[in-house]
Amino acid sequence: MASKDKGLLVVLSAPAGCGKDTVLAEVKKADQNVKQSISMTTRLPREGEQDGVDYYFTSQEDFENKIKENGFLEYVKYGVNYYGTPKKAIEEMVDSGKTVILKIEVEGAGNVRKIYPDAVSIFIMPPSFTELSRRLKNRGTETEEDICRRLKIAEDEMQRAKEYNYIVINDDLSVCVNDVLSIIKAERLKYSNMQEKIKEIINN
Ligand code: 5GP
Repeated sequence: MASKDKGLLVVLSAPAGCGKDTVLAEVKKADQNVKQSISMTTRLPREGEQDGVDYYFTSQEDFENKIKENGFLEYVKYGVNYYGTPKKAIEEMVDSGKTVILKIEVEGAGNVRKIYPDAVSIFIMPPSFTELSRRLKNRGTETEEDICRRLKIAEDEMQRAKEYNYIVINDDLSVCVNDVLSIIKAERLKYSNMQEKIKEIINN
């Protein structure tokens, strides 16, 4: 069998309220080669979340065992809970030529970049801080105190946007989705990601 170019590892981060779940869902719908990594977490499932779909929900003890077994590509303690990217599944998907998106927070994104310098990182921003604040309030699911806390975290996270390769603004959803798709397309066409394809073309 002809060997294939590896896929892409894409790190996607955004403060809460920037719509990253919706953006990611639309990107997956538009590009069948895009797969999303399913993280493992010790936090409890929220209403409607399914084990093995949204996350692998697990206990602290299991999570810590998996850390010892070196089973994570990266992991963080975010608030009181652990979140981690299972290593094996990601490596298999990237080796088979897929584009794998990790939807992770800024600390984990930094760790991935250290291990995989070729990873492509995208940071989604709101059109303005005022708009982000309005969106969080409109969700109506959190107290005023929670919203203030989330806005403070969002501000800290946005200060780290400079660590990412690409910045995409989610003002209009379809523009934002197209921006992410364009980044993925351009990255896949880089010479470094096309070497096996070039050999195949020359030999046929
Ligand atoms: P939530 O509890 O709202 O689902 O996630 C909280 C934060 O953890 C979000 O920013 C989410 O992107 C991030 N997150 C989810 N899974 C992982 C992971 O495996 N690693 C890291 N570093 N962050 C994650």
